[in-house]
Amino acid sequence: MKKLIRRLVHTKTKFLCERCGKTINGNQYEYRPVQYIDDYIPETQRLCRNCIYTESFGSKGINLRKKNNQIEEETILFKDVR
Ligand SMILES: [Zn+2]
Repeated sequence: MKKLIRRLVHTKTKFLCERCGKTINGNQYEYRPVQYIDDYIPETQRLCRNCIYTESFGSKGINLRKKNNQIEEETILFKDVR
């Protein structure tokens, strides 16, 4: 079983978000869902801020989570955890 990956990997970078397809100039996040099936390893995606929050939490409490910078805080707290 592979763990969830959800973290900020770059700030101030230009890239194409793999979820919304927009060219982003800003924060880049890495996202990989938890692996539930042994022989299927989910792909790691490069996402923009909007997409990582939506992908992680759906629409539930998303504005508050963004305001609290939840994912950015987690990135700092768990940066050495794999
Ligand atoms: Zn996006």
